Amino acid sequence: MRQKVEKKKWKRIFEKWKEVLFALFFPRCCPVCDEAIPYGQKICNACEKKVPLIKEPACKKCGKQLENERQEYCGDCSRKKHCFLQGKAIFSYQKEMKLSMYRFKYANKREYADYFAEVAIWKYRDWITRIGVEVIVPIPMFWGKMWQRGYNQAEVFAKALGRELELPVESRFVYRVKNTVPQKELNDRQRKDNLKGAFQVRTNIVKYRKILLIDDIYTTGTTVDAVGEVLKTIGVEEIYFLCICIGEGY
Ligand SMILES: [Zn+2]
Ligand SMILES: [Zn+2]
Repeated sequence: MRQKVEKKKWKRIFEKWKEVLFALFFPRCCPVCDEAIPYGQKICNACEKKVPLIKEPACKKCGKQLENERQEYCGDCSRKKHCFLQGKAIFSYQKEMKLSMYRFKYANKREYADYFAEVAIWKYRDWITRIGVEVIVPIPMFWGKMWQRGYNQAEVFAKALGRELELPVESRFVYRVKNTVPQKELNDRQRKDNLKGAFQVRTNIVKYRKILLIDDIYTTGTTVDAVGEVLKTIGVEEIYFLCICIGEGY
């Protein structure tokens, strides 16, 4: 018994040293300016002060920051009905965050996820506990794209969150059957058509009632709605979402 405890202790010390040494040769980079940062930090001191965190007033439905205190919903949410109950975002999708998201997505900067998860938990742990999320599900990427890029950034973020919150992450629950064109250039109607039939579920067994969907960037919610609708067909009752960045002015 004592031997086992000793062994565990040494293993922990060894793991810690491995981590410190690794950080010495491959220091973590700041998710905003991309400069190397000291061991133990997830963002540099200068950038920490200037990240565009979402502040109140925010849309009660999608979490987008609002300009007017008297407004309850953003323009987009007052115009249409979403299939999710509520969503939250961490940052506003502007200047530095646009570059950060680009590197997180295309330049293998997966380490940024730890910082995003830390802020997400600091801001929304109470909300996630209150709504009683049972599982975290990242918005899936088409297999061909995933194969090309090597990882799905939404999944990397979802896993970092799940680890900290001790919640299960189901990355294979929903999958993308169509390689859709990027939504950026499309209008509302085209976005919806583009995603028609794009997602499917692997199971028809209802294991969860409340799901937290995870994405990197939210603009008008068409993707979250499309995945949410598929989940509802198998009996999931409540859909929520959490994204890293949310677009402005929709
Ligand atoms: Zn920085
Ligand atoms: Zn909204």
